[in-house]
Amino acid sequence: MEKEKTDTLLKKDLKSLNRADLTEFLSGLGLASYRSDQVFQWLYQKGVSSFEEMTNLSKDLRAKLEEIAEVKRLKVHSKQESKDGTIKFLFQLDDPNDYKVEAVMIPDFYPDGAANRLTVCVSSQVGCMFGCSFCATGKMGYFRSLTHGEIVDQVQIINELTEERFDKKITNIVYMGMGEPLHNYKAVVESARIISDPLGIDLSPRRITVSTVGLTKQIKQLADEETGVNLAISLHAANDEKRDEIMPINESLNLEKLEEAVKYYFMKTEQPLTYEYLLFDEFNDSPQDAHNLVQIARWVPSKVNIIMYNDVAGVALKRAREERLNKFMKTLTDQGVTATVRRSRGDDIDAGCGQLAIREGQEKGKSLVKA
Ligand code: SF4
Repeated sequence: MEKEKTDTLLKKDLKSLNRADLTEFLSGLGLASYRSDQVFQWLYQKGVSSFEEMTNLSKDLRAKLEEIAEVKRLKVHSKQESKDGTIKFLFQLDDPNDYKVEAVMIPDFYPDGAANRLTVCVSSQVGCMFGCSFCATGKMGYFRSLTHGEIVDQVQIINELTEERFDKKITNIVYMGMGEPLHNYKAVVESARIISDPLGIDLSPRRITVSTVGLTKQIKQLADEETGVNLAISLHAANDEKRDEIMPINESLNLEKLEEAVKYYFMKTEQPLTYEYLLFDEFNDSPQDAHNLVQIARWVPSKVNIIMYNDVAGVALKRAREERLNKFMKTLTDQGVTATVRRSRGDDIDAGCGQLAIREGQEKGKSLVKA
């Protein structure tokens, strides 16, 4: 009884509910399901953060919702813009610990200067526990996972900026910011469902890519759930010895286990996947490394993204040199592997792959890496 009393005093954040739970919550107030669709649209398609703005709901209903519910929204703490057009956002979470996360908007332009692809790289956790040695987020350690609402908010807020600036919505979303997305499986899948929902942000799941360091159980779960999103594996080394050295997860989930999960994923989804491979000078850029990568790329239909690393302070690994990159790429393409090179973007504002981290006076969080 006492607990029930307390619960009624707490306002329900509607963005903490998925679509089914929102319907259930509103049906508890005696509302028909079309009302729940309307509220869902206000929350995610129109991005409002007050009930007052939900003008197709009656005044009484808005007043009732005001009493028992709320709509939380991330705050933009600050923005930094690179000379190449990349914008890094620092978001303030509604959190007693004052946590913040980063997201990056990477624009591509047509020769006439009009916006082409507008890709957003979102964060899924505050920090990360997987401790990859080249990654600034990994050095922070793990603090907490984001809710699906906090992930969708990053997209929604950046959408508002791109619409204002380019008269165009975001075209692609990659879950490659702070955190290991599949370590926050439920919220990530829920957020992808809201982003691709026609009553939500309405972006095709084919334009959403979720990356992972290789959490095999969750890769299989993602395959079973038929979300339709793309999967990218952060590979970064093509044999166990080198992968162990830079990615501690490989010690328990090695390449043999990854191969099994990837084959299961393809068998269930028939979707090709992507391997992300940061090329480090004289570490993973030899002809033998390229041959090993060719073998991995043949496990299932796939493509390889070679990423030119943005150097991170305190990390011994450095960006590979152009002549080594060219030889590496030649080996891949000669062997029939579809491979592209991704040049670093936003390196003047530390917005590149592996560079996201909150530096202001943060303690170290939990990590797989022993201190
Ligand atoms: S690369 Fe990804 S999984 Fe590895 S530490 Fe960084 S954020 Fe975590």
